[in-house]
Amino acid sequence: KEAGRNNFCFFSEDMSRHIQEKARLHRALRQAVQDGNQFVLHYQPKISPVSGQITGVEALVRWVSPEHGFIPPDRFIPLAEESGLINALGRWVLKQGCQDFIHLKSMGIHLQHISINVSNIQLNHRDFLQELKGMIADTGITPEQLELEMTESFIASDQQEAIQILQTIRNMGLQLAIDDFGTGYSAMSFLQKLPITRLKIDKSFVDGLPHDNDSIALVKAMLSLAENFSLAVTAEGVEYQEQMEFLKKAGCHEIQGYFYSRPLPFDDLVTYCKARKNR
Ligand code: C2E
Ligand code: CA
Ligand code: CA
Ligand code: CA
Repeated sequence: KEAGRNNFCFFSEDMSRHIQEKARLHRALRQAVQDGNQFVLHYQPKISPVSGQITGVEALVRWVSPEHGFIPPDRFIPLAEESGLINALGRWVLKQGCQDFIHLKSMGIHLQHISINVSNIQLNHRDFLQELKGMIADTGITPEQLELEMTESFIASDQQEAIQILQTIRNMGLQLAIDDFGTGYSAMSFLQKLPITRLKIDKSFVDGLPHDNDSIALVKAMLSLAENFSLAVTAEGVEYQEQMEFLKKAGCHEIQGYFYSRPLPFDDLVTYCKARKNR
């Protein structure tokens, strides 16, 4: 009994520390979203395995807090989603990403597209589509060059409503990718109903390549599924040459991962693009 009580004590102390820590991070995040200058975008190149050229980049947000130091997105994005701050943060990411893309163009670096992650909360926000239109007009990006990445779970809640939102985005000319494909709980048959243009094969499937039989079967199934629905495919988390070779042979269109490059600050991306162009 004694031990039990002690355990409970530890547990609750632990809990309250956890809650306090979270509240502190939440306050700092709210401040950061207000300030706007604690965030920075890094860009991970996406490469065509056939041509070796950069096809596009994915924007990945970074938070350097004066109080907490570097905080990875896996820690603060969920917090931003819970608190609704993701809407303001997401607006900043979209705008900064498009501006940087235009900046690249002005430097003679012409990429096919930039991919930006949008959370379900953003997609469901009533002002999102209007803001998206305004942002495209303001930055001057060609809608076809802007790809939004979302997860399968967006469709899970209200299919009709979700499909309508996605269709509107497609009608505006943007590209739509399903991120972390294969990790969701949705049936594959639902793909047919979705107005999307790309699948991103999750890293967890790429990890087993090129030797694990289950990974091989799943990746091949996803590629043939995509082909049937005329979707482009990106493999993410590609770290080794032999994974790249496997995916190239299997017909995957785009490769993203540490094998080619980590996500890079803007200036390093410029250097990387110039070096690749001249190869
Ligand atoms: P994600 O969209 O699946 O992004 C891919 C993550 O995998 C990135 O982590 C990237 O740095 C990492 N990665 C890429 N290639 C490799 C590789 O070869 N090996 C390994 N081990 N990792 C690789 P990151 O930048 O920490 O982002 C984590 C997640 O945070 C993202 O996962 C995305 O869900 C979310 N996120 C990042 N930026 C944004 C954003 O602007 N908005 C929203 N809503 N979510 C974002
Ligand atoms: Ca992504
Ligand atoms: Ca992903
Ligand atoms: Ca992922």
